[in-house]
Amino acid sequence: MENILKQLPKKAKDKENENKKLFKKLRKKPPKHLDNLMVELHNKEFEKTNCLKCANCCKTTAPWLNDQDIARIAKHLKLKEQKFIEQYLEIGEDHEFSFKQIPCVFLMPDNECSIYKVRPKACREYPHTNRRRFQQIEAVTIANTAICPATFNIMEALKKTLPIQYTEKGGKPREKFRKGGG
Ligand code: SF4
Ligand code: SF4
Repeated sequence: MENILKQLPKKAKDKENENKKLFKKLRKKPPKHLDNLMVELHNKEFEKTNCLKCANCCKTTAPWLNDQDIARIAKHLKLKEQKFIEQYLEIGEDHEFSFKQIPCVFLMPDNECSIYKVRPKACREYPHTNRRRFQQIEAVTIANTAICPATFNIMEALKKTLPIQYTEKGGKPREKFRKGGG
């Protein structure tokens, strides 16, 4: 895993333009089955990905926390919300709360999360590759291809499943999404 993570930023950079191009096309004309397809590709990838061998998201990024996350985690830690905020959180330029510390202070040496059951929604949903209207999260997904090997693989699988074919008829590119995959 160490090697995979080391090589990932360069591999992601090499695929960046290709991935951006795909997102542009997905936004322009999303295939009807995109939501289902993303769930399928996400589940397939995470069947073979062991996040406990990786934890790169917890080591390199800080999730946003919403009000419910703050209330839930503060209660779990038996802290007043204000105390929890002061001790663990900061507010970014985007006015969102996130953990102050990277790697995450709740990440344990064996890569387990010490607040797993009450972890932030953003952690539960990371890397967002199974969410609806996936075509709307280009920036975060492109960034995640350099952090999360599963996201990188899902993007590669998506491109294989949805080959975009161009013809120059009428001087305009024509795109075609093959349904179902394979
Ligand atoms: S709260 Fe848990 S899942 Fe979220 S970043 Fe920290 S260690 Fe990772
Ligand atoms: S979600 Fe991605 S970056 Fe996070 S632990 Fe799993 S494979 Fe690694």
